[in-house]
Amino acid sequence: MSGSPDSDTTYEVVCPHCNKSFAAEPMTGAAPRYQGFKCPHCRLFVAYDRIEEPTEAEATG
Ligand SMILES: [Zn+2]
Repeated sequence: MSGSPDSDTTYEVVCPHCNKSFAAEPMTGAAPRYQGFKCPHCRLFVAYDRIEEPTEAEATG
């Protein structure tokens, strides 16, 4: 990972609270902690730092 989220890019995010996916452009705040997405389903703020690239199912679990 490098730099900040691209405000011109739509990211696909899975909300860690309601587990619903949505596509949104990131909010770019004054500080990295304010960069992220607002879930349209439950209004939770999902920090950019918490989303990850889609990966294969992990072996653990
Ligand atoms: Zn949600």
